[in-house]
Amino acid sequence: MAPTSRPPSVDALARSLGGSGLPHPVLVEIARDAIAAGDPESAQAAAEAVQLRLLQPVINATGVLLHTNLGRAPVAHSQAAAFSNVEFDLTTGARGSRHAHAANLIALACGAESALVVNNCAAAVLLVLGALAANKHVVVSRGELVEIGGGFRVPEVMEQSGALLREVGTTNRTRVADYESAASGGDVALLMKIHQSNYRITGFTEEATTAQLAGLGIPLVVDIGSGLLDSRTPWLGSGPPPAWLAGEPAARQNLDDGAALVTFSGDKLFGGAQAGIIAGRSDLVQACAAHPLARALRPGGLVLASLQATALAYLRRDGGAIPFWAMATAAPESLTARAESVVATAGLGQVIDTEAVPGGGTLPGVTIPSIGIRVAGDRTRTLRSRPQPIIARVDDEGTVLDLRTVQPTEDAAVAAALGALG
Ligand SMILES: *Cc1c(COP(=O)(O)O)cnc(C)c1O
Repeated sequence: MAPTSRPPSVDALARSLGGSGLPHPVLVEIARDAIAAGDPESAQAAAEAVQLRLLQPVINATGVLLHTNLGRAPVAHSQAAAFSNVEFDLTTGARGSRHAHAANLIALACGAESALVVNNCAAAVLLVLGALAANKHVVVSRGELVEIGGGFRVPEVMEQSGALLREVGTTNRTRVADYESAASGGDVALLMKIHQSNYRITGFTEEATTAQLAGLGIPLVVDIGSGLLDSRTPWLGSGPPPAWLAGEPAARQNLDDGAALVTFSGDKLFGGAQAGIIAGRSDLVQACAAHPLARALRPGGLVLASLQATALAYLRRDGGAIPFWAMATAAPESLTARAESVVATAGLGQVIDTEAVPGGGTLPGVTIPSIGIRVAGDRTRTLRSRPQPIIARVDDEGTVLDLRTVQPTEDAAVAAALGALG
């Protein structure tokens, strides 16, 4: 047997990968692994894989508007290096509060006295329970002890918070009287309603409404989760709200019905950055803000700036400026026109009817009519490796790119990617 050639040095192999643009220590790691595996040739592919693993913008052609793996709602953010008045009051020149910007605007947009922003809705629920119900009972329906994706289980969050769960009713039916008798047991700090975001119980069912529970004299917290601000959707203009929103609980209506607090995500139907919002009665919001956990759960200035932009768009009633709402409500005819133009440019693909979904664990079973482009075969891998990765889905007849979740500004990149497939 001929002697095998000596493997390249780690350093030489790492330098040969320099075209990838990855920093040298990363390339050294890749080169070392490839040599140790006896396969220096694999280093090139490994470097490409590392590059694809970097956090980067992608084009969502899945038709899932709030795709949990793609960061839920699409948000814009760009800012040159700069300080901000995150905790500085420009009117007085004294120390300000990081709750004075986005949180106040969101409170105004949903008709709450006050609001507080934390890292996500799980954190919002944890903080509410920890601040308002530690070592006290919280009454929850057995039909609402939900698990939301990513390991958010209501009983476990409650345990972490130090609140004591008092379950009432049954899986399918819980009445006001069930809450009432549990509440009369004493030591009850809160009643809690949790939206069954990602599943439905149908058939022989009964639940107590917010208005009914609000009348029982104990503060009611409603975890609406999805972050629909107002069921009348004034930011979408004067027409009726989209039919697919029917039945979705909204912050403003729950507060109007007497909820003391609502909690919701910033990156679901609110259409903003990842965050959790606690909105409602000022004294309760203040108690949450004053709890030591609030410091640990607070978001950074980048998130607050992004949420502020979203909140201002709501207050201007400019849903078109919130990418989630612009996508969710685009007319099918406009999607058809775009799809035809992309297909004409690419010289490839067939325009088809599709069904998009809200996603993000909201509105299970609900679909939004949409338009897509189908190409033969499974081309998802090639599309994912584009300079601007495109995430598509596969059905029985080929690869489908749903235009409802693609921004119009991304059409040219989609056309170029399809053209390159041909
Ligand atoms: C999504 C959801 C949560 C968790 O929200 P995150 O922002 O992902 O932490 C909590 N409660 C309900 C009802 C939800 O729908």
